[in-house]
Amino acid sequence: MKRTGDLKLIQELNRSIILETIRKYGPISRSEIAKKNELSPTTVASAVTELINDGYVNEGGTGISSGGRRPILLQFSPDNHYLIGVSISYSKITIADINLEAEINIKKIYPTKGYTGAVLVNYLLQLLEDFYTKQQDHRQCVGISIIIQGIVDSKKGIVHYNPVLLLEDVYLRDSVEQHFQLPTWLENDTNAYVLAEKHFGHFQEVENLIYITIGEGVGAGVIVNHTLSRGESGGAGELGHTSIDWNGKPCSCGNKGCLENYISWPATAQKIMEEIEIGRETMLADYLTNHKTFIAPSEFVEAVNAGDDLAIEINHQMAEYLSAGVVHLVHLFNPEAIILGGDVTNQNPILYACLQDMVEQRALKALYKDVSITSSSLGKEFEMVGAASVLLQDKFQFKLTHDSNRLKTSL
Ligand SMILES: [Zn+2]
Repeated sequence: MKRTGDLKLIQELNRSIILETIRKYGPISRSEIAKKNELSPTTVASAVTELINDGYVNEGGTGISSGGRRPILLQFSPDNHYLIGVSISYSKITIADINLEAEINIKKIYPTKGYTGAVLVNYLLQLLEDFYTKQQDHRQCVGISIIIQGIVDSKKGIVHYNPVLLLEDVYLRDSVEQHFQLPTWLENDTNAYVLAEKHFGHFQEVENLIYITIGEGVGAGVIVNHTLSRGESGGAGELGHTSIDWNGKPCSCGNKGCLENYISWPATAQKIMEEIEIGRETMLADYLTNHKTFIAPSEFVEAVNAGDDLAIEINHQMAEYLSAGVVHLVHLFNPEAIILGGDVTNQNPILYACLQDMVEQRALKALYKDVSITSSSLGKEFEMVGAASVLLQDKFQFKLTHDSNRLKTSL
């Protein structure tokens, strides 16, 4: 039995390696694939036949002959299949039809309407049902990939803790999988973003990488030695709950002075409103017209870049608080790059400059000199690329890590 199991595992692994080689280097010939991966021509030929039959690869064009007839070239076909990407945030649910290169075909955004707990889960199922029914065509759906804030156990498919959406120990993956009879993935949102930077962004070669999100909450996704570090139950990277003031503001987690209460967008927006209410002069007040009672992160960044005193002061404070968290991360993980994500970080070079300065002052020099603090490379569709990456890297092992290559040779 064990031998059959081993053989099947080797075949699947080889198939993944061959598919990844075609995706990365195609158009490519069968013999080149064999040479690149030190696999036998027969192994490559049978795996390629399967990949063509399943619609993942197609034959197109011919290569240069090395003596005999010109070889037929193979290329990746990302559009015969699709996946459904889902991102659940506090205010909206985004659902998209995405191809196998993480490119979006159709995207819809729905407000969460203040729904929480079981009502929210039922609402999600209903939205997915409407969306999925409309997508059904000749293409095959490879699965559904859901990302959400909070503590998520991706192995068991459980949302352990999301205090705003009132989700506690919810078996979200099973609910969706059973409803649609489609393989389903569930992951923490920031973990998904760091995976996306690693697989589809500019950080593919970086071994130790951290992504910090500053949005409705504050979280970190950590890649150590090319592998996502999830922790025992999915809670690794809860940076927002690092206490930076023992006597500080009470947090929803029960602790006091958590970073999230100082730099998340709701916390920053509230600070701005308080300053406006006590009569502080600022161009940010101009955005509050026509009964609009909130300021968008992009408006705040606009005010920072226009030299507004209040905006610059709050931006500086944000960098200061954030630097405490970043210094922890630098000392704990010694990363090569730290990526900042979230609307408040977009087009905000002053935030990066302040943060860089503060981290330089506070972190151990020997560790700091290796770190670059930088912006996301995923563009405005980072949420959906993130959701797609969770499924694609797991199902197809796109962009194999060095560990997987070692596994291949040791079997
Ligand atoms: Zn907390």
